[in-house]
Amino acid sequence: MNSTSTPSSPGSPNRTNSAIGSTTDTTTGTTTVITNIGSLVTNDPSLGDESPLGLILDAAVVIEGDRVVWTGENSKAPATDNRVDAGGRAVLPGFVDSHSHLVFAGDRTQEFNARMSGRSYTAGGIRTTVAATRAATDAELEANLTRYLREALRQGTTTFETKSGYGLTVEDEARALRIAAAHTDEVTYLGAHIVSPDYADDPAAYVALVTGEMLDACVPYARWVDVFCEKGAFDGDQARAILTAGKAKGLHPRIHANQLSYGPGVQLAVELDAASADHCTHLTDADVDALANSRTVATLLPGAEFSTRAQWPDARRLLDAGVTVALSTDCNPGSSFTSSVPFCIALAVRDMGMTPDEAAWSATAGGAQALRRDDIGRIAPGAYADLTLLDAPSHVHLAYRPGVPLVSGVWRRGVPMIL
Ligand SMILES: [Zn+2]
Repeated sequence: MNSTSTPSSPGSPNRTNSAIGSTTDTTTGTTTVITNIGSLVTNDPSLGDESPLGLILDAAVVIEGDRVVWTGENSKAPATDNRVDAGGRAVLPGFVDSHSHLVFAGDRTQEFNARMSGRSYTAGGIRTTVAATRAATDAELEANLTRYLREALRQGTTTFETKSGYGLTVEDEARALRIAAAHTDEVTYLGAHIVSPDYADDPAAYVALVTGEMLDACVPYARWVDVFCEKGAFDGDQARAILTAGKAKGLHPRIHANQLSYGPGVQLAVELDAASADHCTHLTDADVDALANSRTVATLLPGAEFSTRAQWPDARRLLDAGVTVALSTDCNPGSSFTSSVPFCIALAVRDMGMTPDEAAWSATAGGAQALRRDDIGRIAPGAYADLTLLDAPSHVHLAYRPGVPLVSGVWRRGVPMIL
């Protein structure tokens, strides 16, 4: 991973550096040890058992300000100002949810109800949310966003990416990104979610808008550019034009690829060095090979397959080929209305061939790689002190005890959060 190649780094002066929940100043040098951790996932093999999880049993972590400054065996922990006893429970890095769509209004209860009664999902359902989002006030959109961020925090998410894509006008897309940027550094311009209903008869004109005036209005608020490359949304040539235009303006590409059918999305992601190809459900052997020989992460979003009764992505096939896999929620009101990373971990283990260890890694370090970040997704000196405490002795319980609210503590940037 090479975080220096991305066009802008998180926390750069032109963007707001607040995020989930309320935080206080963490620049002081106060040190805190979290001691008596039964099982610690560091995601740094050199710190622990040399597995990818870098597991340490009977461990401790020392936080200074917003960073981790020490991890190791409990008995060797240095003296600190404060002490928190984990009581033998498990700690792992805060979840990194690298794919969500949280700036929206309304819901799609009726569509879900109909689909669960036998109707198949198509991309057109997005138009319902577009109409509701355009009609909402800024305050309504922000209140909705923060509601789901609190929900995610309670389930252990300390970093999230989120996208526009329910405005589909210059003004509404820029508005969505401005609202998102007040709550996260990982903001994605998705003017190319679907062809705007206003341009149904002239998709080429909509692509021109997305790559022109709309892009210019959105660039100040975004780090990433995304496109839904799928039948009924944007084809390979359109997707290439959109991502290339975004790159030229300093955004870095990611892509909704190969979700509902085979298609060019994954190959395009690799060609353009996208940080992530998201969904990856329908893959040829050539697609898998291309991912394995690139640094593009395959981000799997099992909430979508769950909520649409669709075919699961084959995580085992990707992992066995050497592809880096991330797990995220895809939280959105249409096809995956869950903010729960633990739920996605349970699905990935139960139905996608991942081991509990692999799923825990993918939801933390994998998400960080999908955002080209090395300061999150691990508990090691220098990383942000983003930690999740489980009311369980091991991270394995995330899959072993599905649906159970195991998250009992979260630190974000060194600050214990009120859940
Ligand atoms: Zn999505």
